[in-house]
Amino acid sequence: MEETRKSIEKGTMLPVMESFYTIQGEGSFTGCPAYFIRLGGCDVGCVWCDVKESWEAGKWPVQTIDAIVEGALQYPGRLVVITGGEPLMYDLDPLTSLLKEKGFTINIETSGTHPFSGHFDWVCFSPKKFKAPHESIFGKADELKVIVFHKSDFVFAEKHAEKVRKDCRKLLQPEWSKSEKYTSEIINYVKNHPDWNISLQTHKFMDIP
Ligand code: SF4
Repeated sequence: MEETRKSIEKGTMLPVMESFYTIQGEGSFTGCPAYFIRLGGCDVGCVWCDVKESWEAGKWPVQTIDAIVEGALQYPGRLVVITGGEPLMYDLDPLTSLLKEKGFTINIETSGTHPFSGHFDWVCFSPKKFKAPHESIFGKADELKVIVFHKSDFVFAEKHAEKVRKDCRKLLQPEWSKSEKYTSEIINYVKNHPDWNISLQTHKFMDIP
């Protein structure tokens, strides 16, 4: 037990809720085949979270990073998306170094609420109102993806856009259950603020994970 705890702390073993090969449905890599590694554990607490079962890290089997990478190697795609839960709760240096060694392109989807770690080709930063981001995320984000669940989310989006790099891609994405209510507002907003683009959860239309 103690050994496992130490390995999790070092990032050489990680709790994995699920891993699966699918098509990335949202964000800048929409339509790309990708192997998703969903780490267990999240302390952000979004009310509309669609993976609440991920929150409790202890519920999920702990795997060595070798086993995790072995899983990814079973498929022909060489794009990995590390997500959660909140993946930056863990030190991702060991896992991402090993994935790089095996030739993967590595993306992360994070709320940015924990200190940054790991080596990524693309960092999708999706800030949440329920927990403030850690300062280390702002310089790392390649994509700022704000989920629109309430009309105040447009102001929230602009507040975070002020802090990311100039070349960071800015996306607004309707929260699935509110998409009917907010999609037309998002369309109007993006037409009037062309530095923003729209992201849709196309995997939900395709009915894939
Ligand atoms: S950060 Fe992600 S996993 Fe965590 S509560 Fe929010 S939506 Fe759910």
